[in-house]
Amino acid sequence: MHGKSTERMRKVGPYGVETLPQVCAAGSGPAGLAAGSGPAALAAHRGPAASIDVPAAPAVCRGALTERARLHWSLGDGGDPAALAEEFLAAHGLPLHDLTRPSTGQHGTGVCGAALYLSAAAGALLAGAPTGAPEPAPALPDLAVVVYQHGPTPVARPGPPPPWWLGEWVESWTPGQHAAAVDAVRAAIGRGDVYQSNLVGHAAASYTGDPLPALSRLGALPGARYGGVLTGDGWAIGCASPETLVEVTDGQVITRPIKGTRPATATGRAELLASAKERAEHIMIVDLERNDLARIARTGTVTVDELFAVRRWCDLWQAESTVRAAAADGLGLADLLRATCPGGSVTGAPKLAALTQISALEPVGRGASMGALGWVAPGHVDLGLTIRTAAADGQRLHTWAGGGITWDSDAHAEVAEAAAKTTPIRATLAGR
Ligand SMILES: [Zn+2]
Repeated sequence: MHGKSTERMRKVGPYGVETLPQVCAAGSGPAGLAAGSGPAALAAHRGPAASIDVPAAPAVCRGALTERARLHWSLGDGGDPAALAEEFLAAHGLPLHDLTRPSTGQHGTGVCGAALYLSAAAGALLAGAPTGAPEPAPALPDLAVVVYQHGPTPVARPGPPPPWWLGEWVESWTPGQHAAAVDAVRAAIGRGDVYQSNLVGHAAASYTGDPLPALSRLGALPGARYGGVLTGDGWAIGCASPETLVEVTDGQVITRPIKGTRPATATGRAELLASAKERAEHIMIVDLERNDLARIARTGTVTVDELFAVRRWCDLWQAESTVRAAAADGLGLADLLRATCPGGSVTGAPKLAALTQISALEPVGRGASMGALGWVAPGHVDLGLTIRTAAADGQRLHTWAGGGITWDSDAHAEVAEAAAKTTPIRATLAGR
């Protein structure tokens, strides 16, 4: 079955929407953008005084960065977000047209690097797939690129923070609706439409006060390799993701898909290692990632460095693999994003068929979740996959969680797994 699935996946494509990029909200920082609807607390974090805690930003630079330029783009703007990102970065001193060239090492002398956020919906667009249901937090852009330079350190805001209150979480679907969607995926697998498909649910809660401290706390959760925040005009994203969507260092492209979860107990670990269902689900995604990397790699260089390594995130064990390849000559950021977004571990396989099914079954868009968030600089890319991620707009906090559905999936177990993934996120946001 794996050989067959790989063969079928190779027929998917070509990916990418090759329209000419439009000039849109590029420019001189968030103050130049349309006014947001967020409350004063969220708006106060805009601009050069905002703290810089972008996931995967270089640790030695974090305390000495100031915002230099910002691009926001949304699906309705048209054009190709991958090409726009690459062009915007080049125009602001960060050429990423050829990631095999070594980093120019400008730390301390000017432009350092940039935060890059690409939503799951934008990733689906790049893959030529439906972009999914309407977003629950339309204040969030689908692409944000924020260029940072070394400069005066951010100024702390005076005064005590406003009291933080977080309301009850309201799910976008009931456990029964979630279970029905799991059964619909199983039926699609039975028909041969897909081998595996991910389903993601959404929940939102009203808040009063400043959501930034709550979102920042997520980054300190154990196992959050991509811990941090990114903010804009009337929106913010807080990330506790353990998963590497794509990393490029020294001309090597690496992805670390995570698939398979159990409680962080001795029994849970033994169960995960022994589960044929989890292993089958995991291997399918490793196959998909090998296929994705092969499209941007030098021929014959794709390898699996590590398969089904069990690692911990909060109170969960998770299975992770490492897939590596040598970047093809002249590989640029836009082609890298087109080949890897959205990440296979949150779509299913084959990717295009799974995205089509996701779009039909999920009642609410994936928002800030299941996208890419991290740091880019010449010769260096490090993007997390935004699982275990929350977002704020002016009124509500939003979380998303789900899992991969295979033929062997049990609807009630899938509902419970999604709940297990959001429990530490919600507790942390609440301040418990
Ligand atoms: Zn730097």
